[in-house]
Amino acid sequence: SRDTGQVVAPIPTITRDVWFTERDENIALSLKHSGNQLYKKQSPYQKVEVFETLAYGNMLTLDGMVMCTQKDEYVYHEMITHVPVFSHGNVKKALVIGGGDGGTVRELLRHEAIEEVVLVEIDELVIEACKLHLPETASAFNHPRLNLLVADGIQYIQDCPDAAFDLIIVDSADPVGPGEGLFTAAFYAEVYRCLTSNGIMITQSESPRFNTKVFVEIYDTYKSIFGAEKVHCYLAAIPTYPTGTWSFSFCSKGEVQPKNFDQTAAAAFSRSQGLRYYNEDIHTAAFALPNFVKDLLSSK
Ligand code: SAM
Repeated sequence: SRDTGQVVAPIPTITRDVWFTERDENIALSLKHSGNQLYKKQSPYQKVEVFETLAYGNMLTLDGMVMCTQKDEYVYHEMITHVPVFSHGNVKKALVIGGGDGGTVRELLRHEAIEEVVLVEIDELVIEACKLHLPETASAFNHPRLNLLVADGIQYIQDCPDAAFDLIIVDSADPVGPGEGLFTAAFYAEVYRCLTSNGIMITQSESPRFNTKVFVEIYDTYKSIFGAEKVHCYLAAIPTYPTGTWSFSFCSKGEVQPKNFDQTAAAAFSRSQGLRYYNEDIHTAAFALPNFVKDLLSSK
């Protein structure tokens, strides 16, 4: 048959063009979402929301700031846990302050030698939202070695006995809202007291490129408490956090060196657990810092 040249009108498709935007002072991050907001509640502490994004799956936000997404949360959670666990080599008791999405305790509990993990999250709605809409992240809340407490981490650490934990992870959001007190020298001094003699504190320490002032201030605080030579910074690439370059602090009370670890064990663990970011090479490489980060850490 011959082409009649007739123009056939395309079938109209309804396209949604709805974007979530995290606005910081001078930059913004936007993610297209389905328009179908999965969760929205105001807790006594913050606005807890879950959006269905097209690129990164379901996404938890607190007061409009991205906390984690289904598709990239593994980077943050594998790096905040396996680096200290392999560096220490004998973690028996671990404490997580914040971290109500569940990803950090899920990763810690992969280590069968850890006897107890305590999670202290202030906001039960964060836990509820993640159980409902980020179930892979919230998958370990019923684990028999997990002690889940809905409480203020600042109060918990004040009441905690000396030398109670081998590893304390401060899995906080930014230093605004309920998390502000998790960035103070008084709080870190209490964390130091609660660590065993060779214990490790890990914190998420913001973006060195973007949150430069906070980054410099918190490292100065860690150094004043742990001693400059006991404080290390490592980096990971997290696409949904501002600038994509995210930092973690590694603060050691004793002589534990972050790059001195059992590489064979880390390699075997990474593969057997099906990890998607952490491995023995990443563990070492994450402590290699660009000059602008080294300069920030040695400033003042
Ligand atoms: N990994 C993410 C990031 O860096 O953006 C998100 C961490 S988010 C799950 C941090 C959690 O800390 C929030 O759920 C928040 O409710 C909790 N939090 C804030 N202040 C707290 C406090 N004083 N005690 C315990 N948890 C707190």
